[in-house]
Amino acid sequence: MFPPPSPIAFIDLNAQYRHLKTDIDARIQAVLAHGQYIMGPEVVELERQLEAFTGAQHAVTVANGTDALLIALMAWGVGPGDAVFLPGLTFTATAEAPLLLGATPVFVDVDPDRFTIDPADLARRILAVRQQGRLRPKVIMPVDLYGLPADYTAIATVADGIPILGDAAQSFGATVDGLRVGKLAAITATSFFPAKPLGCYGDGGALFTDDDGVAAILRSLRVHGAGSHKYNVVRVGVNSRLDTIQAAVLLGKLTVFQVEMQRREALSRRYDAGLSDMLAIPCRPVGMTSAWAQYTIRHEARDRLAEALKAAGIPTAVHYPRPMHLQPAYMAHGEGSGSLPVSEALCEQVLSLPMHPYMEDATADRIIDTVRQTVSRL
Ligand SMILES: *Cc1c(COP(=O)(O)O)cnc(C)c1O
Repeated sequence: MFPPPSPIAFIDLNAQYRHLKTDIDARIQAVLAHGQYIMGPEVVELERQLEAFTGAQHAVTVANGTDALLIALMAWGVGPGDAVFLPGLTFTATAEAPLLLGATPVFVDVDPDRFTIDPADLARRILAVRQQGRLRPKVIMPVDLYGLPADYTAIATVADGIPILGDAAQSFGATVDGLRVGKLAAITATSFFPAKPLGCYGDGGALFTDDDGVAAILRSLRVHGAGSHKYNVVRVGVNSRLDTIQAAVLLGKLTVFQVEMQRREALSRRYDAGLSDMLAIPCRPVGMTSAWAQYTIRHEARDRLAEALKAAGIPTAVHYPRPMHLQPAYMAHGEGSGSLPVSEALCEQVLSLPMHPYMEDATADRIIDTVRQTVSRL
């Protein structure tokens, strides 16, 4: 009898912890020893390291990626009567943030190859909002889906001065022409949710900007809109600080982050080589590197493929099964089925394969073989 093959993890956070245990345990113990659980020295140290890593003038940590988006929009005074442009294919939080502030999301279709916001459709939707005259075009929120930066250069060209907030929850560590995420938009928001490329052991997030004035407002908004004294409230804010223990975890993980990025890149190349003749593999725009939060393929018979892979012990995930404009809670703001054809088609076809930096080549090869056999039988 052969032993059964070991189960394959979609993302193996335990393997990462086993690798970093001594360092991370010591860093957490240090926080327990000094007791500054809120805005302790690790938070300050992490912000300096995030600035050094990204090249952004300011890194402002917050409680999660959704709050990062919300706080950025608050800093720009987004509210009722404002149009906020965002892609149909994204995680819920992108649409939720403007809606919580009373603004109106304007759903934009995505590029069929990159899966990020389509600059041509964005231009059309900005023009339509201007012509209607009911809403003020206020912010554009491109999303770096699966870790690949949006086409910020093309977006800036059609933006016509509308400020850009990058939703980089999935792309921390990615680059465009050598510039890191954090430098690609006026404000960039990221998430440290455990499964993101740089994840903590709970919720966490950060904002990046080169603008001193905006950074000061972001820092104030995360602590209830405090002024120079904490009981002097100068604006309506929120409570959204990164826990010191989470900052300690992130400092530990940052020590290996670049090595992990290289491993993700190598695995993505291995998947490409093994699958490109059979399947639609992810696009690699010239000058860009992805953070490979996900390795996402396309197939017409996606659901049957996912089911067969599950039966063969390969976990997969669908990011995402339903576009924003067809979500029951957001539908009133969209134009219904057929209005974002690329996003709608991708929701039926995308499938993310296991991807994490601790995956062995042999495991990737097993996944590739199983996908190949399964696809040939569909
Ligand atoms: C994960 C994610 C968020 C939200 O981040 P949280 O830290 O979970 O709040 C926002 N946008 C996108 C595209 C995401 O993937």
